[in-house]
Order: sequence, then structure tokens, then C-alpha cells
Amino acid sequence: MSPSIPVLEARERILERIRPLGVERVALGDALGRVLAEPLVAPRDQPPWDNSAMDGFAMRAADLAGATPAAPVRLDVIEEIPAGKMPRHEVGPGQAARIMTGAPLPRGADTIVRIEDTEPAVTGGRVGIRVAAEVGRDVRRAGEDLRAGATVLEPGQLIGAAEIGVIATIGRSLVDVPLQPVVAILATGDELVEPSERLEPQHIVNSNGHALAAMVREAGAIPRNLGIARDDRDDLRDKLRRALGADAIVTSAGVSVGDHDYVKDVLEELGTSMTFWKVSMKPGHPLAFGELDGHPVFGLPGNPVSSMVSFELFVRPALLKMAWHRRIFRRVFGAVLDEDVKTVAGRTNFVRGIVEERDGRAHARTTGPQGSGILRSMSLANALLVVPAERAGMKAGETIDAMYLGGAGLSSESRPF
Ligand code: AMP
Ligand code: MG
Repeated sequence: MSPSIPVLEARERILERIRPLGVERVALGDALGRVLAEPLVAPRDQPPWDNSAMDGFAMRAADLAGATPAAPVRLDVIEEIPAGKMPRHEVGPGQAARIMTGAPLPRGADTIVRIEDTEPAVTGGRVGIRVAAEVGRDVRRAGEDLRAGATVLEPGQLIGAAEIGVIATIGRSLVDVPLQPVVAILATGDELVEPSERLEPQHIVNSNGHALAAMVREAGAIPRNLGIARDDRDDLRDKLRRALGADAIVTSAGVSVGDHDYVKDVLEELGTSMTFWKVSMKPGHPLAFGELDGHPVFGLPGNPVSSMVSFELFVRPALLKMAWHRRIFRRVFGAVLDEDVKTVAGRTNFVRGIVEERDGRAHARTTGPQGSGILRSMSLANALLVVPAERAGMKAGETIDAMYLGGAGLSSESRPF
């Protein structure tokens, strides 16, 4: 067994082995949360022509000199331009066109006056304009959003709601995105039963398989839950064979040095080149990493909190890297500790914490008892508080690094915005 290695070194050594997956073409409606795998170029200007930002009238600014509510300038109304129609006439001196928001600016016109600044009714084909306006007022310029021929989104861009809108704007209904990693998940242990099964006194319910499948989903990947393998070589071999073909394999438990910890042996038998680390972290510690047919294999520890924290630190960034994400790590920020945190020096401690914003600052407290079997601590937490290996605990008032896990909002106060 190799000696204990630091968390960041383990993560780096894993990530350098991870290769991005291939690409598939999906419907725009399925692209949310994926990453763009192609550059997208605008085929035409957006907006395609100068257009009106207001319901009103289009005319020549030069015609409006001196216009006031008391002495409106009267112009001949030559046509009406609703959105969806191209103008038919050029606007000449002394003329105006009724125009709706988004409708193309007619030739000859160089400014818009909104309807509120005109006489309430058009009489005898003439409208009274009650204000002067400079050239370009309330005109939206062709191409001010997107320029024809310009790359509007780059490969690697995360597709959110705004990107969906931009992609639709350039007329694309299909888009290339990286494949979603398929992740085989196998829980191991003689004591385990599924939540739906009959519980005998000696049983423990397999929570890891389900929690890990959910974490896979949260990372944008596709879980393939292989259930439970017993602590015996044959069953492990059988179940692990079903994992072949997945883009990644995640197992839980059986990687300690107990008498029945065969996961590493069987993976090696199947052809996995395994590294077995004691990662210098708490919770966590034993972690097996290897490659089977070029696909990463993660042997996570069995304790429920350890398996989730190990997934968070090692598997999630790897899955995100496979799917071309550029931001593969959680946001880490400083938070003022509201209480003392007790840890033992020598390993990096990931303390389940609750971070919230108060008086314009991030504050952190722990979720309480930190045993690696206390899964509720993960449920209560919105962050992992990182106590460096060289520190034996931290004191109230110190600033601690908080790895924000998302979920519930940061602010405890409700604010209008
Ligand atoms: P092991 O790594 O096999 O020594 O397991 C460590 C601890 O985690 C033991 O208390 C196991 O019962 C528990 N454990 C292992 N696998 C699971 C699982 N899939 N769900 C919940 N607890 C588990
Ligand atoms: Mg076990």
C-alpha cells in the first residue's frame, strides 16, 4: 500500500487521467445544463435591421426642432408598420410613419417619438409631435445584439437559460454537446439490503448506492445502479462485469484493510490498474483509483459520509471534466467561524457546515457531531468547511475556507431582491 497522500495531489493525479468524452447532437430543449461542443456563429445580424424600441412614430429628427406640447410639429402619417411587416415607403421631410415596438425603421427616418409624446389622435392623416428628439432616439441598431459572422458562443460554454435563448436566436434547433458520462455504481457489503427489502437485525440499508446515484445525476451524468455485491470474490466479479462499458465505475466500501475487502483484488483481476491510496483526509481516507479499459474506477470508502465527501472531492470533478465543463470545482470562499471547530492535525478535515450571509459577511457553523456515519450531517450542510491538515482545530472568529455545495440560499434574512 502506498503511503498517505494529500487530497489535492490525489485529485490532481486522478484528473490528469480523465479524458473528455465524445459529442452528440441534441434538441435545444435538452441542452440546458450541458456544455456547448461547437462554436456557434450568427448567420445574420440580430436585430436584422434598425428597429423601433417603442410604440410611436418614426420620422426625421431635423423636422422636430422646437416642438413642444404647446406648439407641436405636425407631420403627415404615410403608413403604419406593425411588427412582422417591412416598411413600404421612405419617410420624407414633413412625414412620419406609425410604428410598433420591434418593427423595422423605415428608410429616411432616423428617430422615434413614443406615442405618449404625440397628440392623442391622428387627425386628417396628420399627427402632432410634442417633443424634439435627437437622431437615434429609441432606435435599436441592426446587429447590436449579435453581428453576422461573429462567433457568439464558444465550445466549453455552459448552456444556461440565456444561452438557450441565444442559440434559438441564431436559428438552431439542434446543438452539439458532450456525451453524458454513464456511471456504474456498485455497493458492496454482506450487511446490506435495499430500502425495499425486508430488514433483519443484522442488516444495514444500502444508502450509498442511492446517494451516489443522486450525486451522479446532480453532476449531469447518468447513473447505472448495479445494486449490491456481497463480500465475496465471485459475486463482486459478476456484478463488476456488468459495469463494463460504463464511462466510469464507482464502488462503495470494501476498500479498507478488513478481511473481506476484496474490491481492489477483483478489480485488478478484471484488468484494472489500481492505485490504492490512503488520502490524508477526514472523512474519507481509503480511496482506490484505477483504470479499466481506459475508464476511471473509483473505489470509495463505505461510511456514508466518507463516500459522499470522497465523491464530492474526486468523482464529481472527474465527471464534469469528462463532460467538458470548465468549472469543475466548487466555489470556495472565506467564512467567519461562529464556533470553535475541533479536529486532529495531520489530515485535511472536511467539516460539514452551514454557511450563511449575515451583516454582509459569510458566517459558518458546524452541523454538530461529525462522525463519518452521521449522514444527516450531509443533509443539514450546505458547505464543507476545510480545516487544513497542519491545524488542530480552528477558533471562533477565524476565517475558514467554505466549499459551497449549493442548495439552500446563503442568506438567512429575506430581502426584496
Ligand atoms: P467498509 O468500508 O466495508 O468497512 O464499511 C464501512 C461502514 O460503512 C460500515 O459500517 C458499513 O456498514 C457502512 N456501509 C458500507 N456500505 C454501505 C452502504 N452501501 N450504505 C450504507 N452504509 C454502508
Ligand atoms: Mg464492508
